[in-house]
Amino acid sequence: MTSAPPLYLDNNATAPLRAAAIAAMQDAMGPPANPSSVHGFGRAARLRVEDARQAVAGLAGCSASEVVFTSGGTEANNLVLSQYAHIITTPIEHDSVRAVHPHISFVNVLADGRVDCDDLKRQLDAVPVAARRQTLLSIMAANNETGVLQPLDDIAEIAARAEITLHSDMVQAFGKTAMDFAGSGIGYASLSAHKIGGPSGVGALLVRPGFGLSSLLKGGGQEQGRRSGTENLIGIAGFGAAAKAASDDPDHYARMAGWRDAFETQITCNLPAAQIFGQSVRRLGNTSCIAAGPKAAETMVMAFDIAGVAVSAGAACSSGKVQRSHVLDAMGVGDAAAHAIRVSGGWATKQADFETLADVFLRLYKQNA
Ligand code: PLP
Repeated sequence: MTSAPPLYLDNNATAPLRAAAIAAMQDAMGPPANPSSVHGFGRAARLRVEDARQAVAGLAGCSASEVVFTSGGTEANNLVLSQYAHIITTPIEHDSVRAVHPHISFVNVLADGRVDCDDLKRQLDAVPVAARRQTLLSIMAANNETGVLQPLDDIAEIAARAEITLHSDMVQAFGKTAMDFAGSGIGYASLSAHKIGGPSGVGALLVRPGFGLSSLLKGGGQEQGRRSGTENLIGIAGFGAAAKAASDDPDHYARMAGWRDAFETQITCNLPAAQIFGQSVRRLGNTSCIAAGPKAAETMVMAFDIAGVAVSAGAACSSGKVQRSHVLDAMGVGDAAAHAIRVSGGWATKQADFETLADVFLRLYKQNA
């Protein structure tokens, strides 16, 4: 008897590579390829980079000149924060925002996972007028643990009124929600390739015209002087191909929201004590963050793994250890934070995967009640 292949539902950590990204990277791998070289090899490499830039810009809703390639979302976040003297942000950000700057203030989040816009207004108003040009407001578009989407239109309006620049970490929202960076009122946005089926180690910072950016790395002046270092051509080619493939199926995550909601309904009907975080507000269609039983989240993640389903507990952590979720702590969920697991679908996820998940989920939580 052959067992079913494991089911991967941890796409907010990383998504599997798309076939188109693999093909584009294999294609870019052969010839010598420094896009700054003037000979034919260099010009061919430049074409690949610019083609990828166009594809990323297309998916982000901006022009290609606004895309600065980086080594990923972490670098994009560090790069933009390094340009400002004071950062105002939220306690639910990724560590590459919330833990990288010496002068940082935090705006409260509500129990549903959204930013408290009254507190935001108060904090922006309290910034002395003379300091506002050197202050950056950084608020993520979608949270990696709960999928909760922030009301970025309202936040952009509040920031504009206070004349403070807004950056958004859009690593999780990119490719999963429609994006109109050029029309958003946001000055900078961070993206990452490996969340949309491209390779890890490549991403971008989007920069609106008129917003400055000086390279953190000093050297060759690539990316129009905004990010030095010979371009990661293979990674960039994979990123571009993944962005193109994501653009070809813009409704995938809206459909997934239906599959995810049906799964959640089954859970709450059968396990009345289950709590689903952020369920009452707009969320990514792929994410569900649930506390449903007395066992620690790590124990349940192992049980899921043995049952052939990959999910995660709390925040994925580079050391392999699971830390208590700073996101759920900020939402004030109390002890439930220690029991929460995260399920996240991706570009390759199908309706049947959420149906299988529901069966496994109910079986495991009934066994571990
Ligand atoms: N921002 C968010 C919200 C993320 O979820 C992640 C990755 O998990 C990052 C930033 C970092 O991106 P990268 O892995 O490309 O450095």
